[in-house]
Amino acid sequence: MKKKINIAIDGYSSCGKGTLAKAMAKALGYVFIDSGAMYRAVTLYLMQNDVDVYDESAVEVALANVVVGFLNNQEGQSEVTLNGISVEAEIRNIAVASKVSEVAKIQIVRSKMVALQQAIGLEKGVVMDGRDIGTVVFPDAELKIFMTASVEVRAQRRFAELVAKGDVVTLEEISANLKHRDAVDSSRENSPLKMTSDYRVLDNSELDRDSQFALAMQWVEMACGG
Ligand code: C5P
Repeated sequence: MKKKINIAIDGYSSCGKGTLAKAMAKALGYVFIDSGAMYRAVTLYLMQNDVDVYDESAVEVALANVVVGFLNNQEGQSEVTLNGISVEAEIRNIAVASKVSEVAKIQIVRSKMVALQQAIGLEKGVVMDGRDIGTVVFPDAELKIFMTASVEVRAQRRFAELVAKGDVVTLEEISANLKHRDAVDSSRENSPLKMTSDYRVLDNSELDRDSQFALAMQWVEMACGG
């Protein structure tokens, strides 16, 4: 592949953005960054320290004690860290999911995360997934993909994932959480999830992983100049 590019993958909750981003990063030898994990790590810190996520000033004070980063585990996979410790497992539960969109609305939280994300992207060769990657974090990304799928498909996938991990959840609970997060993420004042005309749209309601990967890699070829 000729030149190194940055790839932004945005879209609704539980569309499989991370799965696609990871596969692309692996194939291209790029760095994969799960930006949602960063907002989840901040949320986990606030919950662990009994900070009211609706109280912006309290969040701002607490944020001074939060350092979010990434490490590579023994399998070579990226894990998000909170103050130096991996919190990859703890951030995926429904308790964190139910609060994270409130935290992600707060501008000071976003500024801190975006600065870190932009620093990681400076050298190019990054695949980052989230909600505002193509619009705010890397507005100049050479390839922007907007992923979507029906809410039923997304809820079913996330439900199966959590049940496989041993979490006790219901499909209704998951579905309600996805709809809630989509609504908050799309309507917030700061960096809302929105698709602009420079995105390529990938609806994977009826696409399997291999087909969506093949399609995305064609787009990479095109973005890299063939
Ligand atoms: O991607 P994931 O579902 O793990 O993201 C969790 C939440 O973090 C989203 O629902 C959204 O509120 C927030 N988020 C964001 N901007 C990003 C990535 C995630 O606001 N770039």
